[in-house]
Amino acid sequence: MSCIFCKIASGEIPAKVVYRDDDAIAVNDLSPQAPKHVLVMPVKHYENIAELADGHDDALMAKLFTLAARLGRERSPDGFRLVVNTGSDGGQTVDHLHIHILAGRPMTWPPG
Ligand code: 5GP
Ligand code: ZN
Repeated sequence: MSCIFCKIASGEIPAKVVYRDDDAIAVNDLSPQAPKHVLVMPVKHYENIAELADGHDDALMAKLFTLAARLGRERSPDGFRLVVNTGSDGGQTVDHLHIHILAGRPMTWPPG
């Protein structure tokens, strides 16, 4: 398996882990785009959120978003942004589902 996020989940590649359990892991982004930038991902490999939706694991879907919301609120009670880039038009560069948590500065809209 050549997926870098699978390697992070297995511990093969080091990362700053801020949360982990049997199903999910959260790490600081290597190239932060905000003062606080965390990635929430499933331990199991799903290419993107559409693939997880196809997998009908609604419990895992809910768990990932609940975790992202909790970690976001912990980092910024004033607000934060969750982003799930999906596929080439979505700007996804790592093909292992992840939710970006961006916090610690005001966000702008529309996104690029
Ligand atoms: P995407 O563009 O797929 O939505 O986001 C991929 C994210 O993964 C980027 O924000 C990038 O900085 C981050 N990233 C890429 N490689 C690594 C890595 O080896 N470790 C960590 N912690 N983040 C990474
Ligand atoms: Zn993977």
